[in-house]
Amino acid sequence: MEQETGFIKENLKEVEERIQKACERAGRNRDEVTLVAVSKTKPLQMIEEAYDAGIRVFGENKVQELAEKHEKLPGDIRWQMIGHLQRNKVKNIIDKVDLIHSVDSIRLLETIEKEAEKKNVTANVLLEVNMAKEESKFGLFPEEVLSFTDKLKDFPHVIVRGLMTIAPDTDNPEENRQYFSGLRKLSVDIASKNIDNIHMGVLSMGMTNDYEVAIEEGATMVRIGTGIFGKRNYALDKNTR
Ligand SMILES: *Cc1c(COP(=O)(O)O)cnc(C)c1O
Repeated sequence: MEQETGFIKENLKEVEERIQKACERAGRNRDEVTLVAVSKTKPLQMIEEAYDAGIRVFGENKVQELAEKHEKLPGDIRWQMIGHLQRNKVKNIIDKVDLIHSVDSIRLLETIEKEAEKKNVTANVLLEVNMAKEESKFGLFPEEVLSFTDKLKDFPHVIVRGLMTIAPDTDNPEENRQYFSGLRKLSVDIASKNIDNIHMGVLSMGMTNDYEVAIEEGATMVRIGTGIFGKRNYALDKNTR
């Protein structure tokens, strides 16, 4: 590759330090926050380097890419589907992923339920919330989430583990603080309803540009790609946001 080896290990060290400092600032324990290494578009070799440095949780946003990497890489990796999921592709990953971050419709949940039942697995999912109501993004609007959760009782093979958001792309992470604190408030409201099959333990929020602010606001999962693996090549891969 064009970059010398070793840089992933270095990047991981820096990310780890910054996660720890953010936890300290917020009075939180480091073990409350899971680092999801977002490896989309990146080759196996780079993932192996992160794996050798101790990373076991990887995020992908394309079904086929996730399935291929799942087949070729060690079995103790916990793969996470972080991208928009089409219903006709659920069957290709339902027994390969540890967590689906991107549920935003009842129809998608119905498909997940059906495919999970067929493969005799329980699917762990997060509800994706479009906190800033950006037109370019998927996800439920914040005011839709509470009524959405009322419809979730009939899915015995699905467990809702929490909420996920993708905050706006900005140079100033402080601008996203409001969305992270808003997502946390929403999760508290949902948890207080005590609905079967809904747990609100996970808050997946924060990416390379804003994960420290997200941790300060209660993130339990941060999804970091660029900060670990370097920039993605959009010229080669037009499908990646
Ligand atoms: C690509 C992606 C990330 C990682 O973004 P970086 O800015 O590279 O850290 C996180 N979450 C989702 C849903 C993504 O698609």
